[in-house]
Amino acid sequence: MFTSITVCLDMFGCPNRCKHCWVGHSPNGNLKNDDLKFLAEKFRPFTNCLTVYDWYREPDYKDNYKELWDLCNSLSDTHEKHFELISVWRIVRDKEYVKWLSSLGLNAAQLTLFGGQEKTDYYTGRENAYNEILEAIEILVENRISPRIQVFVNKDNIDELPFIENLIKSLDLENRCKSFGGEFSLFLHQGSCDGENEKLYAIRVTSDDLHKIPQTLAKYTLKHFNKTNMEEVFGKTEQVLYEELINDNSTASYVSDTPVFYIDKEFNVYPNVTTPEVAWVLGNLKTDKIETVLENYAESKSVAQHTRLTVPLCNIVQSQGDCKSQRLFAKGDYIEYLLNKYCRK
Ligand code: SF4
Repeated sequence: MFTSITVCLDMFGCPNRCKHCWVGHSPNGNLKNDDLKFLAEKFRPFTNCLTVYDWYREPDYKDNYKELWDLCNSLSDTHEKHFELISVWRIVRDKEYVKWLSSLGLNAAQLTLFGGQEKTDYYTGRENAYNEILEAIEILVENRISPRIQVFVNKDNIDELPFIENLIKSLDLENRCKSFGGEFSLFLHQGSCDGENEKLYAIRVTSDDLHKIPQTLAKYTLKHFNKTNMEEVFGKTEQVLYEELINDNSTASYVSDTPVFYIDKEFNVYPNVTTPEVAWVLGNLKTDKIETVLENYAESKSVAQHTRLTVPLCNIVQSQGDCKSQRLFAKGDYIEYLLNKYCRK
């Protein structure tokens, strides 16, 4: 028995194809309500605290989002609040949606920008994404929901930050959110280095890029992460991490008593650690027994879990790290980036 289990089924995928997407790109599914019930039935005997989600990419993407919300609640022992993640695609097409979000008590929602129109459309992987995000911001504010803007930064878009600074100012978001008792927030980061974002390794920010970040955006970011300087937000250089970890012969387990599992539309199960890719597969709910899937998890039998549990970190670093690289990483993201590469070699 697990203290809790959270299961997230990728029922419908996502309208976007973001170039930083850590869960990676795969074709959208079109699963049925019965598939979600099937999933819940599989995991239910193994915990008294099950939480079921119908998504792990874009929430509320499907027209029957309200019905799916109720279904998830009825299949769950918990009653979670709506994530502060929403469907931008839906909010500009479905007038009911924002009202429904308000009715659930949502008071902040996260949106992602990459710069101006050209960069945002390109990095979101969808034409007109930028215009829709701006429209979504207006709809949220009109409905007393504070926008929280996330900006992914790399060497290709860092020069667009002054544009974003001006945009926020011209939209007067701080004052408009204050007027209804909300709080506008914004943060910059480079994201992890897995899924699609791993393909941006070559243009990952380096320490000499940080001075290009406008003061206002740095201030919002430090507040959001509760940090005192931008180095703490963007992490250390790969060179520094390499030197730190090249003598670290520890191993680690990803097993938890409160696991979160991602289940793709083919019913392959992955632990929610990094991108759901083949090295992390625990089994398939249609072809393997659930007992086998959970045993594979608990005994670290997926290739990636087994590797991390048995191969000293220094060997992984030596095999896959770049001792000269000035790219910035959070330590955990760096280890998972190397581990994913090591498992593919
Ligand atoms: S990052 Fe989110 S919105 Fe973008 S493609 Fe991935 S799941 Fe979709």
